[in-house]
Amino acid sequence: MRLILLGPPGAGKGTQAQRLVDRHGIPQLSTGDMLRAAVKAESEVGRRAKAIMDAGELVSDEIVNAIVAERIDQDDCARGFILDGYPRTLAQADAVQDMLSQRGIKLDAVIELVVDDKALVGRIVKRAEDTKAAGQPVRKDDSPDVFEERLREYYKKTAPLIGYYHAKDMLSRVDGMASIDDVTAQIEALLAKVR
Ligand code: AMP
Repeated sequence: MRLILLGPPGAGKGTQAQRLVDRHGIPQLSTGDMLRAAVKAESEVGRRAKAIMDAGELVSDEIVNAIVAERIDQDDCARGFILDGYPRTLAQADAVQDMLSQRGIKLDAVIELVVDDKALVGRIVKRAEDTKAAGQPVRKDDSPDVFEERLREYYKKTAPLIGYYHAKDMLSRVDGMASIDDVTAQIEALLAKVR
């Protein structure tokens, strides 16, 4: 099964992706996690991405497309994967389409987590507090100011993907404001239909 989770930062894509990993035994491919790992490792990609990520802007399509193309060829992706935070631009959506058709595979679903953006800043503040309370480092881009920029980037560059996938008749929507368990149940119900 190959699916894309769409939605603004803080919508719960990562939480839901993690649950899908546990239930379906396919990996979560989070470009945000991959980029953070590259920054930590101080690789060439990490050096190029760090300042952009800290500012809440989007890393270049060229960089993220290359990371994903390499990742989906790894053995653990043979049975499928969950794309979390990718694609985030129309150019990335075209790139993923090309990547999949070159490999003779298709997308099973694109699921949008529909949320009220006024609730998002509160969620992100809570995420930062919970992370801190757990003794883990808080993401720089989870500060309210940078978060506002991430949200602007989402509406400018990523929200058009909703129309893109709707036009391809591939878009499904779930109420992302429901409880975590309820969102999971909505997603599972959708997946049961597409499989
Ligand atoms: P995330 O963890 O998905 O919120 O991503 C954190 C940051 O990584 C974003 O604010 C971007 O700077 C960068 N990033 C993650 N995924 C992408 C992507 N698909 N395209 C461009 N930049 C990305």
